[in-house]
Amino acid sequence: MLVADGAARRLHEAARDGRKREGITSSHRRGRVEKSTAAKARFTELPVRFRAARMEAIMTNKTFTYISFGAGVQSSALLICSNLQRHGVPRADVAIFADTQQEMSDTYKHLERLRDWSDIPVHVASRGDLLKDAVNRNLGNAKRCASIPMWTLGDNGKEAPIRRQCTRDYKVDVCERHVRAILGYRPKSHARHSATCLIGISTDEAIRAKPSRTAWIQNQFPLIDAGLSRNDCESICLEHGFNNIVKSACRFCPYRGDAEWLQMKTKYPKEFARAVAADKALRDQTRSGLNRPAFVHRSLQPLENVDFENRIRLPLFDSDDQFGNECEGMCGV
Ligand code: SF4
Repeated sequence: MLVADGAARRLHEAARDGRKREGITSSHRRGRVEKSTAAKARFTELPVRFRAARMEAIMTNKTFTYISFGAGVQSSALLICSNLQRHGVPRADVAIFADTQQEMSDTYKHLERLRDWSDIPVHVASRGDLLKDAVNRNLGNAKRCASIPMWTLGDNGKEAPIRRQCTRDYKVDVCERHVRAILGYRPKSHARHSATCLIGISTDEAIRAKPSRTAWIQNQFPLIDAGLSRNDCESICLEHGFNNIVKSACRFCPYRGDAEWLQMKTKYPKEFARAVAADKALRDQTRSGLNRPAFVHRSLQPLENVDFENRIRLPLFDSDDQFGNECEGMCGV
């Protein structure tokens, strides 16, 4: 017994010394407790039916199914089919809209209309305002912000895209964290359940369908399985009274093609003006290590100066959108 007590004391002292070495104080430990209390509070704020869904998942080890909902044509069709269990689309427990707070106003209006229509609850989760965070980073007011795939001059003298991290940080991770909260997991704790993420990629964009990078989440692409194209998705939305759905993407997204920029400029001048302002605000990225100016348009011109009509008319330019490069299926669907 004495030996056991001595061993316990030595362990306690070693742990205390280790904490001192690492500079961990009692207030740090209190911080951890506060964080875990906050996580619990977030969970108890969830609607009762989601706490029940979590308990059911734990009791039956059922796979939790969620829709990664972008509020564009394809993911809207996916949500409609999941509600009605049409075209073999399974019924989801929840649809999650990861909000970068930079979508066009029509997307937010459409989101509200679909939320009212859908029997499957549509949750909105957000990490914050992507543009505001990126500008703060450029001004040196924030240490880090996910990189937006803007265009800059490459070493070969041609336009080259900057690395993209925004989809993962502001969409994929946000959805996954929300699912973890529904299932009652603390951040970074080991998940003992499996979840299925339904993603709205249609047959014409099948190249974007990729497996999940998170071990306990499996991606499924029910629109591809059902052989549905973007046009089919548009018809499904129209059939249920949802028309003129705009492409779901940040208004300044550098993946937009010239036809979309032109449409925004002519049909949504206020949105275009905000995209022009974002383009200017993101020009200087020296604090992120980029010593050449960055542009949201691949012509490497300020957005307000680009002649979209000319670019569409002449075969000299690649004026298509670049959403095929967004391989996580979260933007533009
Ligand atoms: S829409 Fe564009 S800018 Fe916005 S998160 Fe997706 S890739 Fe990034």
